[in-house]
Amino acid sequence: MAINTHPTLPEFDYFRPETLIEASDFLVHHATDARPFLGGTDVFVRMRDGLLSPKFLVDVKSLPGMNDLRFDPLSGLIIGAAVNMNRVIASSEVQQHYPLLADACRSVASYQLRTRATIIGNICNASPAGDTLGASLAFEGVLHIHGSDGVRRESLTDFFLGPGKTKLKTGDVAFALHLPSPPPGSIGIYLKLGRNKLSDLSIVGVTAFGYPEPAALSGYRFRLILASVAPVPFVAKEAEAYLSNTPITSDSIYAAACLAAEACTPIDDVRGSVRYRKQMVKNLAARALSEIWEKLKK
Ligand SMILES: Cc1cc2nc3c(=O)[nH]c(=O)nc-3n(C[C@H](O)[C@H](O)[C@H](O)COP(=O)(O)OP(=O)(O)OC[C@H]3O[C@@H](n4cnc5c(N)ncnc54)[C@H](O)[C@@H]3O)c2cc1C
Repeated sequence: MAINTHPTLPEFDYFRPETLIEASDFLVHHATDARPFLGGTDVFVRMRDGLLSPKFLVDVKSLPGMNDLRFDPLSGLIIGAAVNMNRVIASSEVQQHYPLLADACRSVASYQLRTRATIIGNICNASPAGDTLGASLAFEGVLHIHGSDGVRRESLTDFFLGPGKTKLKTGDVAFALHLPSPPPGSIGIYLKLGRNKLSDLSIVGVTAFGYPEPAALSGYRFRLILASVAPVPFVAKEAEAYLSNTPITSDSIYAAACLAAEACTPIDDVRGSVRYRKQMVKNLAARALSEIWEKLKK
């Protein structure tokens, strides 16, 4: 294939609706040729590369509520769809109550890119490598969506259907992400392995999250979510259940990491082989869980 040394964007029309109803109506009426966008860091790249050619780009950044970022100790955190990742990282409330989310955002590309990129764009893009999906799942995120039938909420637990595929329907505009207040005493960590330290998608990403839970046999509950090792963010359920039911020791942590590595289904691609990815899941999951455990048991 010949390389195009001067890639350009195809022509498109720009539309900025004033209400969510107007946005959803427009997207329904132009079901095959319109697309919503936020920071555009996925959309414009895919258009430049000839993978997308919408006739209309619908700029949803200025719609009401899109720029909200607010925390309430009882109800949790609301992140408006247009809030960029640098704003999330800079929020003192995010740093205090959701440091895992700030770390995940910090791992995305560069400061410059993060002035455009949003968490909700990362979620709607549904790349298995998306760096903020693990933290959003660990905090049991719920997406607030306006569609042709009005407002609905979608738990992220079953939102991702495959690479680039989600439960979003024609006319849907995600306008906020809700993260409930985290369990008391929770600790989270995100470990990302890329080909370089800056601006690369993950070869493997490991989100680990743990908290005291008297109802669990081990006294603790863990969540373990893996990026880039399955068609969707991979929740290592066997490893999570094992750590709830088995006393936490370095051996049980290693056994849980092995369960996660066995269960995930990576592919061979330019960033890494199946074998390498599984090995890295084992190593990084063991490291992430051990670091959390050291803090939890203090
Ligand atoms: C140089 C570079 C480096 C990158 N590095 C990383 C990285 O390290 N980690 C990583 O995870 N990603 C990375 N990305 C990918 C990208 O930056 C992220 O996925 C980003 O979070 C997308 O957010 P956005 O606001 O720009 O989304 P957009 O590009 O605006 O939209 C993304 C997708 O969501 C849809 N969409 C947008 N808004 C809505 C809405 N309100 N409702 C419904 N659907 C909507 C769009 O139609 C599109 O399909 C990189 C991209 C580039 C160009």
